[in-house]
Amino acid sequence: MDYDVIVAGAGNAAFSAALSAKENGAKRVLVLEKAPKEKRGGNTHFSGAVFRFIYNDVAELDRFVPDAERDYPGFHKGVQPYPVEAFREDLMRVTQGRTDPELSAALIENSYDTMCWLQETGKHEFELALSVMGVRVGNEVKWPRGAMIRTVHEGVGLSKTWFATAEKLGIEIRYETGAQRLTQAESGRVNGVVARGPEGFATFGAKAVVLACGGFETNPEWRLRYLGAPWDHAKVRGSNFNHGEGLKMALDIGTMPWGHWSGCHATPIVATAPDYGAQHLTDKTNRLSYHYGVMINVEGRRWIDEGADLNSFTYAKYGGLILKQPRSLVYQIFDSKVVKLLEPRYSTSEPYRSDTLEGLVKQLDVDHGRALKTLEEYNRAAGKGGRFNPAVLDGMYTEGIEPKKSNWARKIDTPPFLSWPVTGGITFTFGGLKVTKDAQVVATDWKPIAGLYACGEMVGGLFHYNYALGTGLMSGAVFGRIAGRSAARA
Ligand SMILES: Cc1cc2nc3c(=O)[nH]c(=O)nc-3n(C[C@H](O)[C@H](O)[C@H](O)COP(=O)(O)OP(=O)(O)OC[C@H]3O[C@@H](n4cnc5c(N)ncnc54)[C@H](O)[C@@H]3O)c2cc1C
Repeated sequence: MDYDVIVAGAGNAAFSAALSAKENGAKRVLVLEKAPKEKRGGNTHFSGAVFRFIYNDVAELDRFVPDAERDYPGFHKGVQPYPVEAFREDLMRVTQGRTDPELSAALIENSYDTMCWLQETGKHEFELALSVMGVRVGNEVKWPRGAMIRTVHEGVGLSKTWFATAEKLGIEIRYETGAQRLTQAESGRVNGVVARGPEGFATFGAKAVVLACGGFETNPEWRLRYLGAPWDHAKVRGSNFNHGEGLKMALDIGTMPWGHWSGCHATPIVATAPDYGAQHLTDKTNRLSYHYGVMINVEGRRWIDEGADLNSFTYAKYGGLILKQPRSLVYQIFDSKVVKLLEPRYSTSEPYRSDTLEGLVKQLDVDHGRALKTLEEYNRAAGKGGRFNPAVLDGMYTEGIEPKKSNWARKIDTPPFLSWPVTGGITFTFGGLKVTKDAQVVATDWKPIAGLYACGEMVGGLFHYNYALGTGLMSGAVFGRIAGRSAARA
């Protein structure tokens, strides 16, 4: 036997599994990374690295962000607890009640403990995610509950620390080595992997295999097959290497597909973003402050309630809805009153600008007459209900137009007016494999397959229709840690 545990993939889930396998007694652990070293780390490298996790008291966050109160006075008083029930409620709401009950319970209940493990054992460092989660109201910064902490240097830091921790522990990493096939004993037990590396094919034997190869978001043919048109044309926000090979290998030996195979996470990104994630851009192509403005399509119409919920609960489905608009192109429009509230990453591309709404829409590739009318109708309808408050669902709505804007519906009336062109970029796919709460992969006879485990984006059933910001990495860490432990004990 060559290895105790082989992990296919080198993202957050894979390293959580590799570290946990080591910690639980596996001596020889091998990580197979399909990408070359300079493109290693999957979507994890690209991520904003915000983690969503439970805490019953804000003091439980101190170990991650000990200077929070000093840097942001009022932090302890301002942040709401995020107990198990709150995380469950958020996940149930965004998945329309379809999240797998057993797996989501494991994810939620292990989330805080796993954060502590990432810090202690994984050696990750954390900070408050000011640029994406902090909202300035007067002199104070307001924080949403649940998802506000990220690793230092975001996904780049997360990925770098994972490689450093693994190397320190003697976990072997082979680059440019893509797993292609699982090998099995007569008994059906998975006992290794056939991979293609720089020198050709090689078979690696192992007592257990953990699949952590991400979803199929990079693969246009599978996107068309499972998500339908126009997903084959979508820009990919992250890794160029997640083609669904882990899923294919597993399905080829009779494992059970699970979850929402026609569902995915996709976000509004600047229309000029590259077709595939660029290592240096990471998540800077996102354009997620649409809830403070409006979005119009090329026909010049609004088509969605931009303020239906906090953007951390709408952004992952609005990307797909934008992609399905004519020419997969929409324009986000803001006035100067809200410009200071836009996420800093808006500054990474130049907006269209004008001192009049007419002057602005004339520069956009839209039906100019209709667009101007839409904005004028919006302005007449806006400003009803509550007072504008950027940090909470403020109940300031529009009256008498369709679609309604339910919150933050301020008039767009103060020049200069700005607009960014936006399309929908795919992040990761929701369809995956059925696993037990021990992360063991289940076959189509509903029995676990000996020697095979999965984690991260490859786990099916957690996400349906939509997603709550910060859950992907948390899920990868929780199930990776469980998978590594189970694999080592196997
Ligand atoms: C721009 C962006 C921003 C994001 N921001 C956040 C955030 O703030 N918070 C959050 O929770 N989530 C975020 N996500 C989602 C998050 O990145 C993913 O949920 C998470 O990285 C998934 O981890 P994973 O280990 O399953 O997959 P990945 O990190 O994608 O890793 C998959 C690995 O498998 C490798 N691989 C693929 N095929 C093979 C093969 N055949 N053999 C061997 N290796 C293979 C890949 O090269 C890669 O190393 C973001 C994603 C993107 C793209």
